Amino acid sequence: MPPIPLRFLKSATRVDDLPESDREVAVVGRSNVGKSSLINAFANRTRLAHTSKTPGRTQLINIFEVEPGVTVVDLPGYGYAKVPNRVKQDWGQMIEGYLLHRDCLQMVMVLVDGEIGPTKLDVQMLDWLRSNEIPHQVIATKSDKVKSSKKPKRRIELSEGCNLEPGDIVWVSASKGIGIDRLQDLIWSWLAP
Ligand code: GDP
Repeated sequence: MPPIPLRFLKSATRVDDLPESDREVAVVGRSNVGKSSLINAFANRTRLAHTSKTPGRTQLINIFEVEPGVTVVDLPGYGYAKVPNRVKQDWGQMIEGYLLHRDCLQMVMVLVDGEIGPTKLDVQMLDWLRSNEIPHQVIATKSDKVKSSKKPKRRIELSEGCNLEPGDIVWVSASKGIGIDRLQDLIWSWLAP
């Protein structure tokens, strides 16, 4: 299947400001996990989603259109160490509100750093998604950073940390283009009517 042809629609600070959609997938993960790079990779674009140079400054929900009524949402990254707890709570509430109430949501892609993940916050996010029965797919990023000799062990570690089987996880590298074709196929299947 071809890349996901994303067109930027808008950024919103509130869930209520998102345009209506029929079918949507969302991408979430802690800051620096490689979310912007991955969105650019599966859209086959270079600067559609902006890689974050100033962590924590703008916390926006970005929405992209694939075709009318079919959308991809980039949720703000969680887990910046340097922001006050009150701000963290606001982000949490915004993300949770979106995930619980967006009726058109088909799938949440949960990005986990393939080299160092899952973090405590990733595990919290996965537990929360499970307890709320929200469909989600774990995607391990930066697979190129794991040495070939360490890959089998890392795959098991990461999946166990997520309470999943190794085969449940999609491994990708945005910088080397590994696993992107398969991810594109999955995204098309989640967005299909
Ligand atoms: P975001 O904060 O989750 O949007 O993450 P970014 O896409 O901005 O990436 C964070 C950092 O990880 C940047 O320095 C990227 O160059 C790097 N990065 C992202 N994807 C990959 C990858 O597949 N492989 C490697 N080696 N580095 C990556």
